[in-house]
Amino acid sequence: MPELPEVETIRLGLQRKIISLKIKNIEVLNQKSFHGESDLLKNKVIKNIWRKAKVLGIELESDLVLLIHLKMSGQLIYQGIEKFIGGHPTKDMIREMPNKSTRVILHFSDNSKLYFNDQRKFGWIKLVSASELKLFNFLQTLGPEPLEKEFSWEVLKANLLRHKGQPVKVAILDQRVVSGVGNIYACEGLFHSKLDPSTKVSKLLDKEFIKLHAGIVRALKDGVKYGGSTKTHFVNEEGKKGFFLDHAFVYGREGEPCKICKNEIKKIKLGGRGTYFCPNCQK
Ligand SMILES: [Zn+2]
Repeated sequence: MPELPEVETIRLGLQRKIISLKIKNIEVLNQKSFHGESDLLKNKVIKNIWRKAKVLGIELESDLVLLIHLKMSGQLIYQGIEKFIGGHPTKDMIREMPNKSTRVILHFSDNSKLYFNDQRKFGWIKLVSASELKLFNFLQTLGPEPLEKEFSWEVLKANLLRHKGQPVKVAILDQRVVSGVGNIYACEGLFHSKLDPSTKVSKLLDKEFIKLHAGIVRALKDGVKYGGSTKTHFVNEEGKKGFFLDHAFVYGREGEPCKICKNEIKKIKLGGRGTYFCPNCQK
């Protein structure tokens, strides 16, 4: 699954290409990949693209929103004079479109196209009205967006305290605590905050919640800066691979020296997930 920085990388790239384009028509090649009345899309202009956790929302005229979730194997490929490629890398993604995993094609009035490819067909596109959007449980139960103002250390503390007995690493992964943060960025955020991932939430002091908040934000911002991670199979614009993991401090670095103190990075399991940390820096 992609994490927040990977989806944000796609949003930023797509935004530069498709804002103010008008949709001519939509071609649905796999019925399960598209939900909604596709005819409503005709002649609608794209106004904005937002992201909530790992869901992209393309806002159109008439208060319509196209929701897109790439899930395990989704790709979004824009082909105009310029090209934009985002999603799980496959060898054929830089070749001619459509291909055998193309599920939906948006045709724009300037003859450019947006292809939604999805080999494993877990991804989806849903057309909803702005009012229907409020009924989406999935979006309503998500925690605060970590890169927005709504995410303060006080909010993080209040949300984490619902999991008092859990190790802090496990609690961070609950999408109601903070949305879009998965295993990679939870490990990195804890490293920046110098907290032992096994620490029980109930043991954390205010100054530690403050450090943890700053650490999560730093890890995610680094992720966006480096275009996501190759580990989660994401590429950015023009098909270049993300290289965040080259810059990771702990994730995937078991047995290697800590970039700060030179002690060995350890890997343990917490809540069934591989957890990387430096036992010397994170006490
Ligand atoms: Zn260290």
